[in-house]
Amino acid sequence: MARVLVVEDDDGIAEPLVRALQREGYDTVRVATGADATRAAGAGPIDLVVLDLGLPDVDGVSVCRALRQADASLPILVLTARSDEIDVIVGLDAGADDYVTKPFRLGELLARVRARVRVHSTDLVRVQDLAIDIAGRRAWHGDEELELTTKEFDLLALLGRRAGTVVTREEIMGDVWDEHWFGSTRTLDVHISWLRKKLGDDAASGRYISTVRGVGFRLESG
Ligand code: CA
Repeated sequence: MARVLVVEDDDGIAEPLVRALQREGYDTVRVATGADATRAAGAGPIDLVVLDLGLPDVDGVSVCRALRQADASLPILVLTARSDEIDVIVGLDAGADDYVTKPFRLGELLARVRARVRVHSTDLVRVQDLAIDIAGRRAWHGDEELELTTKEFDLLALLGRRAGTVVTREEIMGDVWDEHWFGSTRTLDVHISWLRKKLGDDAASGRYISTVRGVGFRLESG
């Protein structure tokens, strides 16, 4: 389920917006200050931020800039009451992807959200309670970020993109290691076992990664 972070201090705007997003099937987190927005964005995988620029504690533009700096691929949709701010907001300076001026129609905002989430979802792979941010090279198990080595991340990203299907040992070796790999694939088994450990999986009854004997591995999709 895609997760949307709503940053808006005005309940009259935030509440109907959150309800509409939930009706559309989004997991929604709402905060009312810039400080909470930065905290919430850093805490878990977010698919899109709806950001009001008029916040009580800090300037929304600086929040936008901070979010963009922390994650280059995170879609940010700005809400603004001032049309003269738009150039600054969507310009390279603040890094927002799109904007809606207040007052807005809920239907229009939802359409923008849908479009942006669709583009971003190719970068954020979700499998069971795992989320893998391909571009940002980060992964989460529930709300907890996984500490993965480069190879472990590549391995998880490859299995995640093909979740539910078997990826052969040869494909994995070619993709994650080197296409001219002729040596032992024992290193693959070692990395799989490290990855399983970090996911809290065990080889005998893997909830996430299953071994398909003589063929390869499959990340279970559900
Ligand atoms: Ca406001």
